[in-house]
Amino acid sequence: MDTFIHDHEPAIRLGSFLGIFALMAVWELLAPRRALTVSRGLRWASNLGIVVLNTLVLRLLFPAAAAGVAALAAARGWGILNIYPVPPLLSLVLAVVALDFVIWLQHVLAHAVPALWRLHRVHHADLDYDLTTGARFHPLEILLSMLIKSAAVLVIGPPVAAVVIFEVLLNASSMFNHGNVRLPAALDRPLRWVLVTPDMHRVHHSVEHDETNSNFGFNLSLWDRLFGTYRDQPRAGHAGMTVGIRDHRDPREVDRLPGMLALPFRGPVGGSTINRRRWKAPAPQGAQSR
Ligand SMILES: [Zn+2]
Repeated sequence: MDTFIHDHEPAIRLGSFLGIFALMAVWELLAPRRALTVSRGLRWASNLGIVVLNTLVLRLLFPAAAAGVAALAAARGWGILNIYPVPPLLSLVLAVVALDFVIWLQHVLAHAVPALWRLHRVHHADLDYDLTTGARFHPLEILLSMLIKSAAVLVIGPPVAAVVIFEVLLNASSMFNHGNVRLPAALDRPLRWVLVTPDMHRVHHSVEHDETNSNFGFNLSLWDRLFGTYRDQPRAGHAGMTVGIRDHRDPREVDRLPGMLALPFRGPVGGSTINRRRWKAPAPQGAQSR
């Protein structure tokens, strides 16, 4: 399987992206979950524009990418799975699950550390929530992600195929769980015991800070359940909730490419991250009852 994936890597990546994209786009047209508020043309041009930009930046700076790091680790015997080999299929599953955990942890950090939130808020500032939201990330966040993933690959020592499979899965699941699609509760319920569903991840894109800081998972719903960051539904319901971030709601700023690229460097960091939240002192008890 390693050689098949190696020989057909670009076709597998592009085929999966276009296939899932088309599938989700049709699903969104046939059964949308929420009404969109911004022109789809403007958002799609910007969100897909940043995808093209990110692809070029990555190709230029990291031509071998994380799969190349995995090949290097295998050749040198670096990483846990290269030092303690297990059967190939088990190694594949363990590596994909371990990488999913690393991405979950990175996502939590992106919300906790003020400087990282500045980058990550470009993804969250989208005023609507659809499959293209799942692909819009600031180029600096994409580069940081690649460095973190490469470091994780050096520690885990995954098979090259596992890295490619993980990246293709992550790309597909991101378009799926950002989908503006209606999934019947009878399907959503059992599915989210294992996977992150669109309704589960939409909670994470609410303007309410406690809802934003929930449901960080991309593939497996396990990590949020295990670490206590799972939240079932948004308080205002899926149709009534407000998507985006509170401090940046001008479509020209958050849904146009130049504004999106400048967003990390504009304004204060906002109240949702570590050491930035403020509480109002509660009024004295006596004053309230009178
Ligand atoms: Zn997030």
